[in-house]
Amino acid sequence: MDRLIEGHRRFLAEVFPGKRSQFHLLAETQAPEWLFITCSDSRVVPDLILGTGPGDLFITRNAGNVVPLTSHDVDGVTATIEYAVEVLKVKSAILCGHSDCGALKAALDRNGLEEMPKARRWLSHVESAFSHRQPLNPEDGEGAELAALIRGNVVAQLWNLRAQPAVARAVTAGRLTVYGWYYDILTGRIEQYDEQARRFVPLVG
Ligand SMILES: [Zn+2]
Repeated sequence: MDRLIEGHRRFLAEVFPGKRSQFHLLAETQAPEWLFITCSDSRVVPDLILGTGPGDLFITRNAGNVVPLTSHDVDGVTATIEYAVEVLKVKSAILCGHSDCGALKAALDRNGLEEMPKARRWLSHVESAFSHRQPLNPEDGEGAELAALIRGNVVAQLWNLRAQPAVARAVTAGRLTVYGWYYDILTGRIEQYDEQARRFVPLVG
């Protein structure tokens, strides 16, 4: 805990004063342009890899960057998506998976899930990744099989995202664009899914 308290102390002393006017503007309203759906993984730090800050990204995170398609009741992910699209009127929705994702690893090898009934049930949402599995990329080395499945999960969850009624309406009306990304922790690079070509291409050439 000490490290966090010290970090907050530094924020109050060194960061906040310089951004006081920005926080003043943000204190009563937000108008984020992007909805960002990603994994809970601690190594994915959106503001760091995208150069964004307070007020920029409306974020929802969960294990495996899942957008549940069939749910008997409301869930946090789809409610957040609905709010972002209908109320905040974000212009883009980005679904971002990442290398070495524990959720897809667990879906692949099924180890250690006996003790975690909730996680096991949650992982049923990534089953569709298997049918969208992407070609093996030799650059992914030993993790190529897992990376192909993680990219497949991005494609699968992108389908689920587009199927959300609020998203479907906004996309049809031309006021929302949906993107699928794969973030590689080792290289720091992002790939974007090209839906026409049905493959992932570097976001930055
Ligand atoms: Zn993950």
